[in-house]
Amino acid sequence: MINKKQRLFYLLITLLTFIFIISPFFIDLLWARPGGGHSYSGGGSGSGGSGGDGIAMLIYLIFSLLPPYISIPLVIVIFILYNINQRKNKNENKTVISSPGFQAKYAKHNNIESEIQKLKIVDPNFSRILFLDFVSSIFNKYYTWYGTKEFKNLSPFLGEQEILNSKRTSNRQRITEIVIGSMKISEIKFFQNITGIAVDINANYTLTIKNKSTRYSLTERWYFNRKAGILSPEPEKMQKLACPNCGAPADFTDNGVCQSCGTKINTGEMQWFVKKHNVINLNVLRTSGLAHYEPERGTMLPTIYQGSLNTFLVQFSQLHNLDWNTWRPSFEEKVIKEYFFRIYEAWSKNRLKKVRNLLTDRLYESFMFWINTYKSAGLTNKLENINISNVQFVRMDLDKFYESITVRIFASSLDYVVDKSGKVRGGSNKRPRAFSEYWTFIRRTGVEKDEYDYSTCPNCGAPADKIGQAGVCEYCGTKINNGDFSWVLAIITQDEVYTG
Ligand SMILES: [Zn+2]
Ligand SMILES: [Zn+2]
Repeated sequence: MINKKQRLFYLLITLLTFIFIISPFFIDLLWARPGGGHSYSGGGSGSGGSGGDGIAMLIYLIFSLLPPYISIPLVIVIFILYNINQRKNKNENKTVISSPGFQAKYAKHNNIESEIQKLKIVDPNFSRILFLDFVSSIFNKYYTWYGTKEFKNLSPFLGEQEILNSKRTSNRQRITEIVIGSMKISEIKFFQNITGIAVDINANYTLTIKNKSTRYSLTERWYFNRKAGILSPEPEKMQKLACPNCGAPADFTDNGVCQSCGTKINTGEMQWFVKKHNVINLNVLRTSGLAHYEPERGTMLPTIYQGSLNTFLVQFSQLHNLDWNTWRPSFEEKVIKEYFFRIYEAWSKNRLKKVRNLLTDRLYESFMFWINTYKSAGLTNKLENINISNVQFVRMDLDKFYESITVRIFASSLDYVVDKSGKVRGGSNKRPRAFSEYWTFIRRTGVEKDEYDYSTCPNCGAPADKIGQAGVCEYCGTKINNGDFSWVLAIITQDEVYTG
């Protein structure tokens, strides 16, 4: 039998392991959002200033609960580990530019790029944009339907293990207000009969158990599989959760039979399915750090260019019959700068609806989440006197359904947070702050229009004053923010996390 003291000892060892082993590996949640410079990590990982207090408390506990022959060596070990940890954190902050982590991430990323090209050879319908749309639908529905009877609609898209796991849920818990911050393909594997893609998803949601709601931020890795050698379905079956056979909205029996066309959809035969998913990181989301600013970390980092950029530029120019050197400055003025100023103005004034037609659904939802988070804390983030100093074209992707352009934008602005009385709570309304961000614009392949007429619906020509939450023109019922008419902004990545 373990006596009381031994039990305490084990408890302390567990605590120590938690503090020193786990906390340095907590992943900061870096969100695509305006003013991302005040790197807001959603977690309560305790790797910040609160670490010291925790240590003092722990030492106090050790001395008061354990005999000296255990407590003294233990405290010495704690001090050594604590110092190593502190030094490690310091070094990480100093050597951002040449850190092996940065190079390794870049190399890994290049590898994934070539795997995607390989996939496109066997599946010319593969579009990264559409695939991630599909992933976001699955993620969203998975949590929305978790523990409800609608969950069966996911049956053609979940592997056996996932279905078994889902049955263990108590029906008293509900997940709502799911917001995806970012998604990234982290691995592609080709097996003889199966193709697998892993996607890292940063998101947050509200979990309600017995009327008590808590907001969490999380990072998860989702593994998607499908039979080798099949073609991706067309966009209509990828952009929302639909029957891969007939395209009707997902409505399946427990056994995966489509209620619309009667076809049994076997997992992985026509569409990707979730083999498994792992939680990498789950934290209670705290809003206490909203007005806190940290020095910009990535502005001085070298720009990451796509290896095959020039090939794509030539291809793009031929496709649209244009002269790149003439087209580029015009795109920079009429799309990049115009969008940048309009979006940040709307952000500052909490009037995001004004730029609804310029943002994809996912980006808009992510923006709205931040606006509401600031609002509920009684704060507003202001970006004023915005000045763009440089724009670099860094990446282009062309696939059968979409084309995308990524640019790195160097800018400066007054960036600060005010409370309801107008008092500045963080940042500065006098000294401009320099920063850079990677922006990715997408457009449907075959569309020629670059410029948006901001005041009218591109489909029916009615005034663009009635565009709902979903980006649908209320006059003609057409969705105008999916790149079918012109460029829309799909992703914003902070410079310190961009890997290509
Ligand atoms: Zn069907
Ligand atoms: Zn319209």
